[in-house]
Amino acid sequence: MLARRTLLKTGASAILAWFGKPLAALASNVNSSKKNAPLVLSTWNFGLKANEAAWQILGNNGTALDAVEQGVKLVEADPEERSVGYGGRPDRDGNVTLDACIMDHEANIGAVAYLQHIKHPISVARAIMEKTPHVMLVGDGALKFALETGFKKENLLVEASEKEWKEWLKTSQYKPVVNIENHDTIGMIALDANGNLSGACTTSGMAFKMAGRLGDSSIIGAGLYVDNEVGAVTATGHGEEVIRVVGSHLVVEMMRQGKSPEQACKAAVELIKRKFDLRKKQTKDTQIGFIAINNQGEYGAFALRKGFSYAVKNNKGSSLIDAPYLLD
Ligand code: ASP
Repeated sequence: MLARRTLLKTGASAILAWFGKPLAALASNVNSSKKNAPLVLSTWNFGLKANEAAWQILGNNGTALDAVEQGVKLVEADPEERSVGYGGRPDRDGNVTLDACIMDHEANIGAVAYLQHIKHPISVARAIMEKTPHVMLVGDGALKFALETGFKKENLLVEASEKEWKEWLKTSQYKPVVNIENHDTIGMIALDANGNLSGACTTSGMAFKMAGRLGDSSIIGAGLYVDNEVGAVTATGHGEEVIRVVGSHLVVEMMRQGKSPEQACKAAVELIKRKFDLRKKQTKDTQIGFIAINNQGEYGAFALRKGFSYAVKNNKGSSLIDAPYLLD
């Protein structure tokens, strides 16, 4: 891949000498002819339906930014998906608190954390990106901004989540064990027909978390990172561990150094494992997964443990793939 990139650059420099156009403009023309675009990847099996929603936009020459927002909104609005948005499991005090972030091909970023009562935190994150001079709003300030911007205040705690929480209260055993039942973030990354990348990440975080606990999913660099020159990455799983290594940014940087998307995700997972070892901690009750796309439209994923799947959609079709993993 490195050799290919060098070749592209050399080719672009030669054309630049001819026409005097900015290199960046040429680079994006080069990307737009990529045969692997458009492409969208999402975490977990709800990614399949989210990708279909994103494809409505990507398949019609829409932008990756619009696609990832619309894609994850489908999961945020679904009360049956109890780890994201409306229907999400509450914290230990019974409050549903949501975290989300979004990033586009021009390095525009928006993030919202500890947001309550708003069904679509991803759209609040986008509004923060587009309408404020800031990149992140949290808690009451984020809610105030959302209401002023026209978002509706709603009760997000559905009966099933409330019941589970009340059951949990009987023991109140707080162990941030990450398994398929108590978490799952939707992270989505896409490459559009113009060769531009964007990503979105949204979650209700760990079930019955401590009030005020924040994971990786609203933190640019940890839960999500996009660099149009290199690739896009998002994470799911034990947010504390992803934050520890600034996971998604790390994977992008590994791809910049020439690793394939899968190799880069694997290197980040291996580093997370070494950090567990360093602290003499067990990895038994934890899971972390990364998915990545490079700007050539190649993609891959890697997880700490068996059981992480991700959804892919491109011109060839749609599939759910079991990610390779480090530990059984
Ligand atoms: N990463 C999320 C968090 O730590 C949870 C998850 O993806 O399962 O809040």
